[in-house]
Amino acid sequence: MNRPSPSSPAPPFAPRDALSRVRVVLSNPSHPGNIGAAARAMKTMGLRRLYLVRPKRFPDPEADARAAGAGDVLERAVVRETLDDALSGVVFAVALSARHRNLGPQRLQAREAAPLILERAEAGDGDVALVFGNETTGLSNDEVQRCQRAVFIPADASYSSLNLGAAVQLLCYELRLAACGGRPREATRTLPFSSPPASSDDIERFYAHLMRVMVRTGFLDPRQPKRLMAKIRRLFGRAALERDEVNIMRGILDAAERAFGGQISEDRFQKTEDRR
Ligand code: SAH
Repeated sequence: MNRPSPSSPAPPFAPRDALSRVRVVLSNPSHPGNIGAAARAMKTMGLRRLYLVRPKRFPDPEADARAAGAGDVLERAVVRETLDDALSGVVFAVALSARHRNLGPQRLQAREAAPLILERAEAGDGDVALVFGNETTGLSNDEVQRCQRAVFIPADASYSSLNLGAAVQLLCYELRLAACGGRPREATRTLPFSSPPASSDDIERFYAHLMRVMVRTGFLDPRQPKRLMAKIRRLFGRAALERDEVNIMRGILDAAERAFGGQISEDRFQKTEDRR
């Protein structure tokens, strides 16, 4: 596998190259909805290359509807008459099948297979392919034997046959996980509710305020503080308080003080809006 040397910066999105060499081949799909679902499953995981062998109905509005935002994957889908045609240029193909077959290729679980598939894709000698079967009949023995491995999703033994789109989703997910070393980057970069971390000054003022309110309310006897403050510090230390959160806590303490006829603490710090 191509790994960056420890000193070189990480590439912006390393898996793209390997994932762009993965074909998802649907052999004889009957339901256009599943073709759309497969396209969507692929795109959400960074795969784009869909191959269809003798689809019953394609293109089809149901495929478009189920693809949602992955219409581009459908538009670029390659339709072929035979599996051999769809596998032309492929150096490593795996057959997806829940069933155990005598005389088939070596069987692997999806999670074991993913790094192997990627390794072959990263080698750059040619494309690799995931081959899925028809919704009712699955893959024929002949089709499975055209592949170098048989891959199964370890489902419940009493009913192990997943919906085609769901099977495609799972495999694409495993490939993505493997491509990102088990830790894919988050799709969402902004955290809408997070504010900057509170400074230790903010936090110390909060503890002092809390202490004052605990004493005033009679919750804490200052002559016998025991280990209460240490425990409270531990609790809030775990929470990694943000500025907004400290503001909220201090607002609650202010309200409690007002209810007790006291005055609002003098060291109340600026509102969050002023500090951004
Ligand atoms: N009735 C068919 C299953 C069809 S499901 C059969 O017995 O083979 C459609 C396709 O989804 C399958 O051909 C296979 O490619 C994939 N699939 C579904 N469940 C799977 C599983 N547990 N493991 C691997 N592939 C699976």
